[in-house]
Amino acid sequence: MNLPFEETRKLGEATRAIHCGEGVDSETKAIRRPIVLGNSFELNSSSETLAESFDWNDPDAFNYPRSRHPNARYLEERLAGMEGGEDCVVSSSGVAAISGAFFTLLSAGDHMISSRICYIGIHGFLVDHFAKRFGVELTLVDSTNPEAVRAAIRPNTKLIHIETPANPTTLVSDIAAISAIAKSIGAIFTVDSTFSGLVTQNPIALGADLVMHSLTKYVNGHGDSLGGCVTGRKDLISQIRLTASVHLGATISPFTAWLLMRSAATLPLRMKQHCENAMAIARYLESHPKVKLVRYPGLESHPQHAIAKKQMTGFGGMMNVILKCAKPDYFTFLKNLRLITHAVCLGHTESLVQYYPQEGDNPDIGVLNYPEDIGEGFLRLSVGLEDAKDLIADLAQTLEKLP
Ligand SMILES: *Cc1c(COP(=O)(O)O)cnc(C)c1O
Repeated sequence: MNLPFEETRKLGEATRAIHCGEGVDSETKAIRRPIVLGNSFELNSSSETLAESFDWNDPDAFNYPRSRHPNARYLEERLAGMEGGEDCVVSSSGVAAISGAFFTLLSAGDHMISSRICYIGIHGFLVDHFAKRFGVELTLVDSTNPEAVRAAIRPNTKLIHIETPANPTTLVSDIAAISAIAKSIGAIFTVDSTFSGLVTQNPIALGADLVMHSLTKYVNGHGDSLGGCVTGRKDLISQIRLTASVHLGATISPFTAWLLMRSAATLPLRMKQHCENAMAIARYLESHPKVKLVRYPGLESHPQHAIAKKQMTGFGGMMNVILKCAKPDYFTFLKNLRLITHAVCLGHTESLVQYYPQEGDNPDIGVLNYPEDIGEGFLRLSVGLEDAKDLIADLAQTLEKLP
């Protein structure tokens, strides 16, 4: 693509996903980016000063791949273009990207507000390390209620973080309303948008300073790599790049960045099918006599369906399901599935389901319990790209075997 970055903003989402960060290799004329494995780059010897030839933080000047390497940079250009952010930094995992951002932006004595339901690895990082060991004041709130966010503000509130839709409960928070609250106090506003699959919501347009994704999920989409990104304000991304990559070392490998770049090109197309399949399955399950509850942002019965409709262009592929059967029969349900696999992770081509345990299943589950939000024991279904009729048939035959 030979368009200036600003002009790429006017392109449609599919065009941006395919062309941003792509280009002809100047040495071989290959129309795909090569994988660059060199772990050192020749420095500019003609610079007036050594410092000019060695800028750790210039995203387009390579010196040592922990700070930046070509494949990471191509992927960052693609993701920044897709998300509509000024710049992007990619990391070795979603947790590395998000914790790297928080390490960069928060210091001891600062106060942070976060969604109470957020990804378990981030929840653990915030509670067990930031709050308990590093002196960052932390308030976890029900961010589905913007007034709860406002009520948690302190004079030293530096950052507000929400996850929407939330993992695993699919609860939706109002991005524009919470952005207005953050702006009113000059706090940085960050959104973990992983569950949206990137293309179904645009937190930056709704006022987020930074958007985070686990690229492991929908962006990768094929269940075969790990990565994370933070996209948004250039001034903040530059700081995060230095801290997360240079100082904390959470750099993505060139091969993984190349794989994610390849996957990202088909994300808009894949998300359409995830959304369509999930809606068909949510409606099927909601009408099934052996199912107690289906929670999917696209269903009118979802507690924040109105907000989801306002801020999302599709409702993604994630849902919660509670069955009417007793606990042991959840395992009958899982054991008899033939296409859908019982496994962690989400956003893959194939459908996955995960059982979230109840009190008594395992003494260590701790925060894995979400009783306040959804009741004890539920399934999190990640609807894949198979034919919806085959997924429905699989669910039907296992539900048939329940009492
Ligand atoms: C999976 C996930 C993460 C963590 O990403 P990893 O790539 O597993 O480190 C963060 N946030 C959300 C919402 C997730 O689903």
